[in-house]
Amino acid sequence: MRLGLVIDLDTCVGCHACAVACKQWNTSGTTGPLTDYRPYGEDPSGVWFNRIRHYEVGDYPNSKTINFPMSCMHCEDADCVTVCPTGASYKRKEDGVVLVDQTKCMGCNYCSWACPYGARELDRESGTMKKCTLCIDRIYDESLAEIDRQPACVITCPAHARFFGDFDDADSEVSRLVRERDGMQLMPELGYNPTNRYLPPRINTPIPTDDVRRPSLAGKVKQWVNKAVAR
Ligand code: SF4
Ligand code: SF4
Repeated sequence: MRLGLVIDLDTCVGCHACAVACKQWNTSGTTGPLTDYRPYGEDPSGVWFNRIRHYEVGDYPNSKTINFPMSCMHCEDADCVTVCPTGASYKRKEDGVVLVDQTKCMGCNYCSWACPYGARELDRESGTMKKCTLCIDRIYDESLAEIDRQPACVITCPAHARFFGDFDDADSEVSRLVRERDGMQLMPELGYNPTNRYLPPRINTPIPTDDVRRPSLAGKVKQWVNKAVAR
């Protein structure tokens, strides 16, 4: 089994609901607390497993805002695991989820330097490394209804831009989406072989603004009538 996320860059609206749901769940779950520093003061900051970047691509009027959620990619060949001197960072054989054993982590930061995706954050309060767990305490919780055994970010996303599943199962929704929509890895050239995939934004046909604004014959007549009536 190889669990991970598919994120649809075409429908993500950058609302940050996934990041907030992640923070809420993981602050109250087994991994928490995700510390906030100066939450009500100047320059507040804190530990987030999931962050959303925003990019503008293309030139006006054919530009488009791309919202890009980023969290741990649960890489197949993750250097964050191999560089860890204490064995705190590990990748589970049974489902491919990359985790940090909080009791073994000494906060040396090696793993965050090894991660090219910026997916790890040192919690200065606990002195340990924190990262996306794929809501490991939720996806296996049999006391929850099956539909709720998904990461909090997936359940929360109002645009339904996030999908969770097993990439080793060719019939899973995530595998199908990757097949049908050319799901991409982020920076595959680095060789980490990330499990998470992104569905690229669809190419929209640009609206021919010049043509739309050019008045038609009927429009010209209407303008003339309006002017005459207004006199
Ligand atoms: S995204 Fe970063 S932290 Fe997550 S598995 Fe890959 S290298 Fe490790
Ligand atoms: S910060 Fe913790 S998890 Fe990361 S390499 Fe050091 S001991 Fe391992």
